[in-house]
Amino acid sequence: MNGWNKMLFYSILTLFKSSPLEKNKTVKPHRPDKLHVCPNCHNKFYGKICNHCGEKVFHDSQLSAKHFIHQTIDVFTHFENKVVKTIWLLLSKPGFVTKENLRGVRVPYAKPVQVFVIVNLFFYMMIQYLHITDYTPSSQDGASSYISDKPGLGWMRPVDKTIMLSLKNLRSKKLAAYEKRTAADTTAEAKKEWSDVPGHFVHYYNDQLFINTYNQKVSFYSKTLIFILIPVFAAIFYLVFYKKLQYYGSALILSTHFVSFNLLFYSLLSGIIMLPYKWFHSRTFYNLPGKAMKLLYNDKLRDFSNATFGIYEGFEALHVIFFGAWLFFAFRRLFNLHWLPNLIASYLLGRIFFILIFCLYKKLVIAFTLWSM
Ligand SMILES: [Zn+2]
Repeated sequence: MNGWNKMLFYSILTLFKSSPLEKNKTVKPHRPDKLHVCPNCHNKFYGKICNHCGEKVFHDSQLSAKHFIHQTIDVFTHFENKVVKTIWLLLSKPGFVTKENLRGVRVPYAKPVQVFVIVNLFFYMMIQYLHITDYTPSSQDGASSYISDKPGLGWMRPVDKTIMLSLKNLRSKKLAAYEKRTAADTTAEAKKEWSDVPGHFVHYYNDQLFINTYNQKVSFYSKTLIFILIPVFAAIFYLVFYKKLQYYGSALILSTHFVSFNLLFYSLLSGIIMLPYKWFHSRTFYNLPGKAMKLLYNDKLRDFSNATFGIYEGFEALHVIFFGAWLFFAFRRLFNLHWLPNLIASYLLGRIFFILIFCLYKKLVIAFTLWSM
């Protein structure tokens, strides 16, 4: 509006003293906000965003190609910034993003499940590229990593035996069914190929096929079934801190962040150790964890370290130490725990989570893979 029009406009307005526009002026004298009608839910609102459904105010100019490109770039850089920032905070300030999420500050950070999906993808690519198998059990692994081998957990022997036996039975049953099923298509072909060798080679041929199929499937499932750990760890967090967490949903957020931290920790550690070796054949970092762990697993301290940090020298100790440290700082931020009960809780949970991942989760992956065959 130019000056003359404005004068005319207000002189007309004074004629209608109780005009709604005039009233509006007295409340917000400088710039009366325009009343918008939401194109999505027809709610009437002031401001830039519909306060009913969250739709943004629309202008025709937003249909330009320039705007489209701008918005596309914005979505990616914005998303990337958020995810990178959240992941960095997950590593550098344990429990911080969880606390922010729990007190309702959610916009500046990537959502817990977004973080987990991105980190899981990173983990997937990393262990695929480096060919590391800590998370990928062979079909024989049902008979390894017993819980009862841990100091003080000998009483778990019956549980270990039950798991081992049921995996063994499942494997035999599936192998038999598999041989029967594949016999028809492979035997004729194999018989021709192995016509001059004894019959057990045909059997071996089918065994090999079974193992190859298993290996293919287990490599996929071991990396994708990890989300199963989230509700299980959340249940443990909820049991231990039910008074402070109040809702299982809160425990789920903490658990999602912790499982994401674990995958990051494992991927980064593997990367630091293996990538210089893979790229430059440099052994600088290759033996580093082993050397560091000699501090704990030398002749004098071995018994103490086995009992305190676990029996898988280095591997388990590194996990228990980093899990424990992350949980310690997270619990301090979230629950304001006194350092002593915090130390006990974070240490014990670190050990429990290690057992759940490397003794039980791996066996579940074996079972799931066999079932799917
Ligand atoms: Zn709306």
